[in-house]
Amino acid sequence: MAESMKGLKRTHRCTELSAANVGEEVTVMGWVQKNRNKGGIIFVDLRDRSGILQIIFEQGADLSRAVDAENFAKAETLRSEFVIAVVGKVEKREGNTNTAMKTGDIEVRATQLRILSESETPPFPIEADSKTKEELRLKYRYLDLRRPDLQEKIMMRSRVAAKIREFMTNEGFLEIETPILNKSTPEGARDYLVPSRVHPGSFYALPQSPQLFKQLLMCSGYDRYFQIAKCFRDEDLRADRQPEFTQLDMELSFVDIDDVIEVNERLVQYVFKDTVGIDIQLPIQRMTWQEAMDRFGSDKPDTRFGMELVNVSEVVKDCGFGVFTGALENGGSVRGINAKGQGEMPRKKIDALVEFAKGFGAKGLAYIAIQPDGTLKSSFAKFMTEDEMASLVKAMDGENGDLLLFAADKNKIVWDVLGNLRLEIARNLDLLDKDQYNFLWVTEFPLLEWSEEENRYVAMHHPFTMPMEEDLELLDTEPGKVRAKAYDIVLNGTELGGGSVRIFQNHIQEKMFEIIGLSKETANERFGFLLNAFKYGVPPHAGLAFGLDRMVMLMAKADSIREVIAFPKVKDASCLMTDAPNVVDAVQLEELGIAIVKN
Ligand code: ASP
Repeated sequence: MAESMKGLKRTHRCTELSAANVGEEVTVMGWVQKNRNKGGIIFVDLRDRSGILQIIFEQGADLSRAVDAENFAKAETLRSEFVIAVVGKVEKREGNTNTAMKTGDIEVRATQLRILSESETPPFPIEADSKTKEELRLKYRYLDLRRPDLQEKIMMRSRVAAKIREFMTNEGFLEIETPILNKSTPEGARDYLVPSRVHPGSFYALPQSPQLFKQLLMCSGYDRYFQIAKCFRDEDLRADRQPEFTQLDMELSFVDIDDVIEVNERLVQYVFKDTVGIDIQLPIQRMTWQEAMDRFGSDKPDTRFGMELVNVSEVVKDCGFGVFTGALENGGSVRGINAKGQGEMPRKKIDALVEFAKGFGAKGLAYIAIQPDGTLKSSFAKFMTEDEMASLVKAMDGENGDLLLFAADKNKIVWDVLGNLRLEIARNLDLLDKDQYNFLWVTEFPLLEWSEEENRYVAMHHPFTMPMEEDLELLDTEPGKVRAKAYDIVLNGTELGGGSVRIFQNHIQEKMFEIIGLSKETANERFGFLLNAFKYGVPPHAGLAFGLDRMVMLMAKADSIREVIAFPKVKDASCLMTDAPNVVDAVQLEELGIAIVKN
């Protein structure tokens, strides 16, 4: 039966006690992790969010050292996950110190016990490194969240947010909230829509990011804004994506790229040092997008290991292998990577790499396996002369025992294939050091990207991103070549955040809309409020947003962002605990003027 805690006040969390408290009378409260009844003596591991503390209930006449019969009888009924309050004395453990436990050298000798709440047997054990299937854990997330490893991550997230606020505030940023119920301004991902009851047939959209509002705040003179903002994107399902996620969003006035980079470098340095004790050396390396693609086949390169791409187009341009020359004739390229020391990789494993490459659009993968004695095993030797093979090996710095892998196709495919292959091989060979933190800025992104599906240019970052001044004149002639004043911050191959300097001149903004095929009318319908604001004095401005979930995930060395979000959704955007999304009452629908069409 549940008792009240009347008259009791918790004095410490479990692991706030140490040998320094020996002799003190304390009151602790928490959950029973486990209990062992050894006859006249019961040991209980008491758990709260700080950790575990051993409590000892002993039967006996000396009530300064023991609990009375009634309390002992109560202690005998304890089971896992009961919530209890214990009054007792801190003692040094006699001879059985547990060094694996923070409080392993002490215990609390109970004099009073109250059972505040009983518990049914939980559907899975509350323990670190759970072996329980994630679906079951998510269904009972409130129990899952009791597990110490998850609690540590959620608490780390709170610390990260606190440090961010501290830093940003000290740097003169103002924390300002922007609305959740907005107008739909499609461009980018799909919006989540919310029907309006007051305006039947009209919808709000949940923000994909506070982009337009933060630019408006700059127009209004707030000059440095930040927000830890919830964002919503109804994107196609992918394993580690959440329909709602959190950004650390910011915008600054009267700045250029270097200013944004400078303050953000110090921010990550501050937050990483103060939460996970990692020293980030500044300045963080910078690399242009072009260099990142050429060397790593990725705009978010993992620079913890080499295996860089080599462009061998020149070397093979006149060779007899049609796959290579064909790709070049179609305007593509031939590039390779050298998997050092992998020349004797079994055929089966090479075939698996070929299959992997196909998943990224490769038609195949050409290889040269240089044997330890220098002979070459290759998938395409028969099309090549010996000299051609020799120059190819040389261009790749191939040495005895190396495995050379080549892709030939359009640049985009070649980069994607080799960039991903490079990572796959590194994973297979265990080359990725989890304790190394390689930060990188990627700059000078292309402004536009050609969309085959839509048969038009789309903004690579978003349509408010400023082209590089030196490329402005290409806007009319070769828009595909225009570089943007955009930057991403990358950590170990993961994009942590990205942003850009914004367009603040209306004529450039209009040109941008024109290039991405947005008519004046449509642009005005969607973004008229921003364009109008720009008519009344707009400062040059720039900003950036970090994906907070991802950042905390990497800091916590978690395998998934679900581990750093208290109540995450699963791949199909549903919540296994609450069963959201769900049907609603007919009355609710009627009020909203909504009828469900059954297919
Ligand atoms: N709003 C942008 C994004 O969500 C970030 C930015 O440009 O500041 O990616």
